[in-house]
This record gives sequence, C-alpha cells and structure tokens, in this order.
Amino acid sequence: NAQTQAWQQLDAAHHLHPFTDNGALNAKGSRVISHADGVYIHTPEGDAILDGMAGLWCVNMGYGRTELVQAATEQLNTLPYYNLFFQCTHPPATELAAQLTSLLPDHLNRVFFTGSGSECNDTVVRMVRHYWASQGQPKRKAIISRHNAYHGSTMAGASLGGMKPMHAQGGLPIPDIHHIDQPYHFGEGQGMDANEFGLERARQLEAKILELGPENVAAFIGEPVQGAGGVIIPPETYWPEVQRICRQYDILLISDEVICGFGRLGHWLGCEHFGVKPDLVCMAKGITSGYVPLGAVAVGDRVAQGLLDNGGDFNHGFTYSGHPVACAVASANLKLMADEKVLERINEHTAPYLQRRWAELADHPLVGEARGLGMVAALELVADKASGKRFDENVGAGTVCRDFCIESGLVMRAVGDTMIISPPLIITEAEIDELIARARRSLDLTWQKLVG
Ligand code: PLP
Repeated sequence: NAQTQAWQQLDAAHHLHPFTDNGALNAKGSRVISHADGVYIHTPEGDAILDGMAGLWCVNMGYGRTELVQAATEQLNTLPYYNLFFQCTHPPATELAAQLTSLLPDHLNRVFFTGSGSECNDTVVRMVRHYWASQGQPKRKAIISRHNAYHGSTMAGASLGGMKPMHAQGGLPIPDIHHIDQPYHFGEGQGMDANEFGLERARQLEAKILELGPENVAAFIGEPVQGAGGVIIPPETYWPEVQRICRQYDILLISDEVICGFGRLGHWLGCEHFGVKPDLVCMAKGITSGYVPLGAVAVGDRVAQGLLDNGGDFNHGFTYSGHPVACAVASANLKLMADEKVLERINEHTAPYLQRRWAELADHPLVGEARGLGMVAALELVADKASGKRFDENVGAGTVCRDFCIESGLVMRAVGDTMIISPPLIITEAEIDELIARARRSLDLTWQKLVG
C-alpha cells in the first residue's frame, strides 16, 4: 500500500520512537495502526489484530466508545482549557475529584491531578518529602522501591523504577531512592515455598529501613502486581507483611495503580485485592481508558491533613494538571464503567473465564508457568519444561514469540522470555477464545522455530 509506505518513510525520516531501537526500526519499517474498534486494532491494509495489551495497558473500555468522544467534544466546546493553579478550579476537575474519591477506599478523600503516570510518581516523591518536612521531620527523604519496577520515564519516575537499562542511560537513580528485590517467585524463588518467599522478600524492606535508619525513610512505593516488570503477582503473604513493616516504622505506603487501578485486578484499586491501605495512590492510563492523557494522585487523610495544617504552598503542578477535557473524559469513562457494571462482569464472568482458558496454555512444551490475576496474565517461556531451564538470552525467545503473535493477529508483549497480556476489560468470552487460539498458534510456531 503506497500510503502505508509513505507513512513509514516519513516515520523513518522524522520520528524517534519511545522505548525503541530506532535504527533497527527504520531498516524494517514501522507497523502502522490506522484505526481501531472494540478489542481490535487495524492496519491500513485491513488486518485486524486483537489487542491483548489494551494499547499500553490502558484502553480498558475498548476502542471506539462514542460516549467518551462525546464527552471530549462537549468539553472542548465549553471550556477547552483552564488551569487549577492560583485558587482557580473548573467543573470537570472538581466533579471528577468528587467522583473518584467516592469510588476509592474511605480514607482517600483528596486528589492532585497530573498529566500522566510518570508525573504522578514525580508528584508523590515531592509530596511525601514536603509532608515529612511539614511534620518537622525534613530528614525523611529516602524512598524505597523495587528492582525491575517500572514507575515512568521522568527523572524521578525512572529513578523509582528499577530497570537497569533505564538507569544506565542518564546516570540514575537520583539521590535518596533505594531498591529491594521484587517478589518474583518463578524467576527468583524456585524451590522455595511461595508464601515463605513472599515473607522473605517483604522483610527486605525492613532490612533496608534499618540500614538507612527509619528516621531517614519517607515512603515505600510498589505496584500491587508489577506490570511492565513481567506481571509479577506477589505471594499472598507479601503485601500484608509490607504493610505491617510500613506501620511499624511509620513509613508512608504508596500504591502505584497506573496499571492495576480501574478494574484490572477486579477492584477500583489493585491494592484492595491484597487488603492494603496505602497513604497515597498513583493513577493514570485506565482512568480515561487512554483516550486522553490524565493522571491523578489520591491522597489519604493523614497526608492531606498534614499538608493542609502545616504545609503552606506545595510548589508543584503542571500546565495540564486536571486538564478539563481529560477530566470530562475520565468522568464519562467512570460512569460508563459503572453503567455497564464492568467490575461485576469481570469478577463474575470475564476474569474467571480468561484465567481458566489461560491456564490451559500451561500444557504447552514451551511454557514453564502460566499465571494470572483478574485481567492480567503471563506465560514463562522455558527451553526445558521439566527443569524449568530458560533459553539462552541471545535466543530472544520472547521476541520470537511476540513476532509470531503479531503474525497470528495478536498483540502480546514480551518482557524478556515472559509473555504478558492485559486485554481491554470489555473483551467477550468469544474474543478470549480467539486470543487463546492465537496465543497457542504463536507458541507452536515459536516451538517449531526454536526447538522442533
Ligand atoms: N507507573 C506504572 C506502574 C506504569 O506502568 C507506567 C507506565 O507504563 C507509569 C507509571 C508511567 O505512566 P506514563 O507512561 O503515563 O507516564
């Protein structure tokens, strides 16, 4: 198609893609996605690809939702922009703040808006330090996160994240950010009882707090289930122990819900699944189903009260904090989720069905583990099923499988040799059947190429 080639040439000449080897991409030509509906993205040539990742874990209500388009259009016509700085507000932001807090656990009663997940994580770094200073404890600056976590691409977000290749580019992390190991049982705890392993990993937090001195530690941050790290579902013992440790040493707990929030784990917040009560919560992505950029930090009563009583100005904010169009779309998105009873549908039907069908893939010779929770799932590719031995790194088994997925009409992401999915929450059972069939076909092709 001449038009597609023209786009590819323009792309190669003028565009630098995020998280992409741009040189290699230009040699190959980028994949053009021109339109989308429901759970499918389409190429200009008319190929329909089942989007098993909901874009970047965000298009929760699926593509082509006219309700969201209408909300954006109406807001663009009424008040396309105004800011929330200097004592101003506007109806979409105030209404969304109230709507959000009514859905969240009782102690989360205030919201600070940003434009993205990364900006949320920069915001919490500054907010917890500001909070502790307001409480007469300015030394409490250290924030503890986890290796292999992803918390965004800004300087603070990437520092909180524990991705080695990101740290290597740009001299990160910034000072006073520390990392402990992730609760990755398949990858790092094989041979150990899962719950024992969960406790052991949680107790690394205690060891780190003691090493730094509790009087220097501001907060711990983690995703309920690490998404981009490879859908790392912690053992049941992990989060309760983390919460106990935070309480014992009076460390603030931050839940990064950028992926896990808004239904991904079957709750408004993923931390609810694990019975965790965070002091601060970072949200983005699914808040608008990805239709427009928006982030929000929900602030618990303790921190909010401290800032209101003693904080003075919080010298922080973004031009697009609480952009009216984004807030209007988020409100419409949350209403749509409620009207269509999405959480009920996921919990009663879609998630159990997805997980049951996904678990069937465990019989494949290439699969060392098939795991999942709610509407995320992962497969661990192994060279030898009996021993769980991995492929050599330079084989790139995950990349091979990912490419066969695309060829088979499915977007599945590879994190090393871990294959992951996070489909739109509105996916039907018939579409799940199709997803599984395409995933199995891709596994077969990968097996044939690498082993058979
Ligand atoms: N936090 C988590 C857990 C994420 O997965 C992401 C993005 O994938 C971010 C933060 C960063 O969000 P954004 O890309 O909107 O800046």
